[in-house]
Amino acid sequence: MCPEVLVGLRRYLERSDAGAARMAAWMIESTDLLIVGCGPAGGVAAREAASRGLRVVVLEKDAVVGSKRVCAAGLRPGFCREFDLPDSLVHCNTPRLALFDPYGDEYAVRFGPGHTSTREELDGTIAARAVTAGAEIRTNALFRELSSEGGRTLVEYADTARGERRRIAARHVFLAQGSTAKLERHPRFAFSGWASGLMTTLQQRWYLARPAAPIAYETLELHYYPARDGRTVVAWMFPKRDHLAIGLGITGKVPGAELREELDEFAARTIRRLAPGIEARVKLEGHLLYGGMPRPTVGADGVSIGGTAAGLVDATNGEGIYEAATSGRMLADFVWRYRDDATRASAAYSRALHDRFYARLARRVKLIEFLSRRPKRFRLLFEQFAAAPRFAELVANERFDRTWADRIFLYAQAARFGARSLLA
Ligand SMILES: Cc1cc2nc3c(=O)[nH]c(=O)nc-3n(C[C@H](O)[C@H](O)[C@H](O)COP(=O)(O)OP(=O)(O)OC[C@H]3O[C@@H](n4cnc5c(N)ncnc54)[C@H](O)[C@@H]3O)c2cc1C
Repeated sequence: MCPEVLVGLRRYLERSDAGAARMAAWMIESTDLLIVGCGPAGGVAAREAASRGLRVVVLEKDAVVGSKRVCAAGLRPGFCREFDLPDSLVHCNTPRLALFDPYGDEYAVRFGPGHTSTREELDGTIAARAVTAGAEIRTNALFRELSSEGGRTLVEYADTARGERRRIAARHVFLAQGSTAKLERHPRFAFSGWASGLMTTLQQRWYLARPAAPIAYETLELHYYPARDGRTVVAWMFPKRDHLAIGLGITGKVPGAELREELDEFAARTIRRLAPGIEARVKLEGHLLYGGMPRPTVGADGVSIGGTAAGLVDATNGEGIYEAATSGRMLADFVWRYRDDATRASAAYSRALHDRFYARLARRVKLIEFLSRRPKRFRLLFEQFAAAPRFAELVANERFDRTWADRIFLYAQAARFGARSLLA
């Protein structure tokens, strides 16, 4: 529209209050897809939607994407290939998964290989590719509020660098702000079980003066044992190029000093085993991890929720990057398919997300609860994984990757485990 026409239109509209209000609404910036959060869910959605020609704006509260993420950043086999990311992101290829039971015994399974990375690199690379595809990423942009207006969603956010409040209208909205997404002020999405699924986590990065034992760099370690108060600790050692990430999580709120003590003991045991006597600089970091049931409602009226904000984390091992990235891809797909009908897009996304993830993730919540009731059950399961690695692999795989023969084998193993653990 030429400037003279715009000035004329503005004068016409400004003649009445109603006109001024209409003009204010008209002048709000708009986009096809507005994404909150630039983790793997938001970043993948942005990249894939922008590469199809949609106008995409991402709001990220941090100044630098990925710089504040606390994560062990273990990636499942084939992750980089599946999401078209460079192998240079991979710090270590880890063909061994070592499971430690509550008695400290180790059961190793060969798989994959899995990979490790850091979130600075992973999220930063996904974001850079989203920008190349045409997405706009606004950092220092803190999401505040959602409201709907005339078939669009108005999103309010704070530009924390300039100290300004801004609004943007979007046809489609994707909320992907991770474990801080309580969403209690949004009755459609609020989930009363959210708080009880949160885990408190703490991690140390051990920057060693010399490399640790070679086996450390081939292995993802997961440890399960009861904390002093009886709650199950899920702990890990994931190797990186320049450090070992050693951390743990406990469901519910844990006083900081207690958690630090628990981690100090675990880290000391791990370092004695893998890097005895090696000097190190240690960096401590902590964050909340969601490990409960998936959020029941994740799509309505043009607004969809993905990644950890949707509760897509495996409660047995904390894996959520794959689930987050996949939800971002699914969202981009449905937004593109139903680009002119946001309500239909969010409803179709919600159904597809349920089908893909909910049964597996809900089973994982029940499994960790079942195992935690008797520490010996961890041992029985890990023994079975070590004796029949195909069982472990099938449990890790997605449901639709399984053949009938796989399913029969899996159910037979599961029945055997059930019988052994009930007799134990
Ligand atoms: C200690 C720890 C270890 C973990 N280890 C692993 C692992 O080894 N492997 C694995 O697969 N998963 C792991 N996870 C889980 C994994 O981190 C999450 O599942 C994954 O990050 C989810 O991605 P996401 O995009 O949904 O959310 P996030 O990665 O949490 O990204 C959310 C983004 O939204 C931004 N944001 C939040 N609030 C706002 C707001 N109001 N406005 C604007 N932006 C906002 C955040 O800054 C962030 O960039 C771990 C988690 C923790 C805590």
